[in-house]
Amino acid sequence: MRDKLELTGMVLSSMVIGDYDKRLVILTKERGKITAFAKGARKPGSPYLGICEPFNCGTFTLLEGYDAYRLLGAEIREYFPEIKHDIDGICYGTYFCDVLEYLCVEGIGDVNVLNLLYVTLKALGKQEIPNHLVRRIFELKVLALDGEAMEVFSCVRCRKEEPKAFYLPGNGLLCGSCAIQIKNSYDLTESAIYTLQYILSAPMNRLYTFQVKDTVLEELDHVIGSYFEKHVPRKFNSLEILTSLS
Ligand SMILES: [Zn+2]
Repeated sequence: MRDKLELTGMVLSSMVIGDYDKRLVILTKERGKITAFAKGARKPGSPYLGICEPFNCGTFTLLEGYDAYRLLGAEIREYFPEIKHDIDGICYGTYFCDVLEYLCVEGIGDVNVLNLLYVTLKALGKQEIPNHLVRRIFELKVLALDGEAMEVFSCVRCRKEEPKAFYLPGNGLLCGSCAIQIKNSYDLTESAIYTLQYILSAPMNRLYTFQVKDTVLEELDHVIGSYFEKHVPRKFNSLEILTSLS
């Protein structure tokens, strides 16, 4: 065991181990995704009660071991109670955490990914924009942070800066003349193209500040949905529960 250390982060998942312990996956600013064990977290009167829940955000005090950390304590600054009121909020929040647990690697810290999760859970709690739109914005942005940004500013074939259609095999948009020549491209409205460009260029604190018409949301569903499935070919339980509820 090495010295105590403090890491800033958010709990992505919390799993019961044996009778009394918990295993946490925490996304940290300094070291990326880490696994930490909280001994006796489920015993009555445990100091860990309440701090081992998913979405909790704060400073975690840990002991570093050979392949995992041991949780010693935490100062939680944000519990996100507003998203825990209904099953919808919990499922979406869990989905965002599941995606990050899948995409993030151990040992490599990325403050942008942590900020994305924070503003996404905040947007989920505020109810100002529909949860479904929050999901699509998150999916497009998280892939960009993961190094798989969709090309939305110029044609992926000829580089002309007048994109008109989506082309999944090219991982981006096509101009009008290339779209005519290529099969299986998907024409987009100007609003949809602008929205895609906005999501990829907006600073994190301005990401969840707009709404779109239902028809534009349908376009985003098709474009971001198929792009995300291509790059993250995995089924998430949290999404399947959401689907079964709707
Ligand atoms: Zn072109």
